Amino acid sequence: MKKILYLFSDTGGGHRASANALIAAVAKIDPKVKQEMIDVFAECSSFLNIFAKLYAPVIRYSPKLWGNLYHFWDDPKKLELLEKVATPFIQKELIERINLIKPNLIVSVHPMVNHLVANGLPGLPIITVATDPIAIHKAWVYPKVDLLVVATEEAKKLAIEYGMPEEKIKVLGLPINPRFIEKKKKREVRKMLGLLEKVPTILFMGGGEGSGGMGKLVTTVDEKVKNIQMIVICGRNNLLLNKLSKARFQHPAKVVGFTDQVPMLMDAADIIVTKGGPGSIAEAMAKDLPMIITSWLPGQEEANVKFVEEAGIGFVETAPDRVADKVNILLKTKEADKIRQNIKKVSRPHASIDIAKCILSYLK
Ligand code: UDP
Repeated sequence: MKKILYLFSDTGGGHRASANALIAAVAKIDPKVKQEMIDVFAECSSFLNIFAKLYAPVIRYSPKLWGNLYHFWDDPKKLELLEKVATPFIQKELIERINLIKPNLIVSVHPMVNHLVANGLPGLPIITVATDPIAIHKAWVYPKVDLLVVATEEAKKLAIEYGMPEEKIKVLGLPINPRFIEKKKKREVRKMLGLLEKVPTILFMGGGEGSGGMGKLVTTVDEKVKNIQMIVICGRNNLLLNKLSKARFQHPAKVVGFTDQVPMLMDAADIIVTKGGPGSIAEAMAKDLPMIITSWLPGQEEANVKFVEEAGIGFVETAPDRVADKVNILLKTKEADKIRQNIKKVSRPHASIDIAKCILSYLK
């Protein structure tokens, strides 16, 4: 029986979500294929995991610092040095684990692990699936892997500039879970969630870590917009979850922590207010949700935000007061209809199925 091994890290929610999306898509096409995952830093290097764990507090409290780090390492020479320094802390343990699992194919959905496996496991096919859709970082590109899957032509262009041979790149979209393809009726889902069936519903999300100053956004929208109800996904931000769970809102509010029910919560919503993470944007598009992007990671997510504006699939607004104004515009004018038309032109909800077919072709 053939086995695929996915390499990811829980920095943000996007890498795990992408691996899960591909696992679900592969299982839909060929349920007989075995699939496993390794949370690379958490399972193979307690030292490097210290740095991986810093991702959440850094993006929550100092996204600017993250932006500086992102740009600093987006340089071939510095990156090579970083890889050289980090490799001894992880490669041996990772290769040993992989040898125990004995996969027939490796799929990496993390930029910082490709060189470790491409050099340490000769003969084993390796596919990288980039989970940043447009402005990919140099770290995603390791020419020795067998294939690099990217989401857009822009990303492909960059990958070629970074030295990836063109014939090893496929543009197939960003993998989102096939659960986002099926749509449920808003009213039914709201009833199931204990929400009012007919009341406009605003969903708040800050990526896997619940970042982007969501607390202030939620309270301002609650104050300034009339006749709504709110769903707030706090992700792994327990502080925010505690605070908002105890808060008294003027409108009905369902506040949850990290959840595997994002597809259903999106089904219940009319509008999403979110960080500009690639996964969240692609998932919101799959669910036809007009979006208001209120925060993003400097460097890494800037291109996604530009994309939202240029494609006309939502608004970009950081000040809570003005976010509330935009919610009102979306609820009271025809703007949301226009946005939904635009979403149809750019959304790629079946990308994970296309990538899964491609992955499976490497198993034969
Ligand atoms: N997510 C989730 N549960 C939560 C919060 C987020 O499954 O409680 C998922 C969300 O559906 C998306 C991913 O986490 O797939 C967030 O990825 P994105 O690229 O938007 O941002 P990141 O968290 O990686 O910065």
